[in-house]
Amino acid sequence: MSHTDDTFQPKSDPYREARGGATRFLELACGDCGTVVMVYQKDGPGPLWRCYLDRIFAPPELASLQGRVQHKREMSNLTCPQCGKLLGVPDVYEPENRLAYRLRRGQVKKTVRA
Ligand SMILES: [Zn+2]
Repeated sequence: MSHTDDTFQPKSDPYREARGGATRFLELACGDCGTVVMVYQKDGPGPLWRCYLDRIFAPPELASLQGRVQHKREMSNLTCPQCGKLLGVPDVYEPENRLAYRLRRGQVKKTVRA
């Protein structure tokens, strides 16, 4: 992904306020081949189980999902563009009715961007 050098401004909204704590950007990479598949804004402490669509900053194909899909049925699985590994499945976080990818445990490498 060439745009991983871009800088992003974190989103601040009630979702973020509800979680508190620090916000940081994570690069998520395929656990098999190491290809970076996503730049993601993580709000608050704790492990990352779910990637909300409205927190995806790159690549554009994934970052634009938040404006294009209304239901998880319209989403495809999250797969590695390089090797095809299945990394996450469509999900919805019911309390907030937010669409997300639920990450497969142990299949995705997470790196905090400097
Ligand atoms: Zn891969």
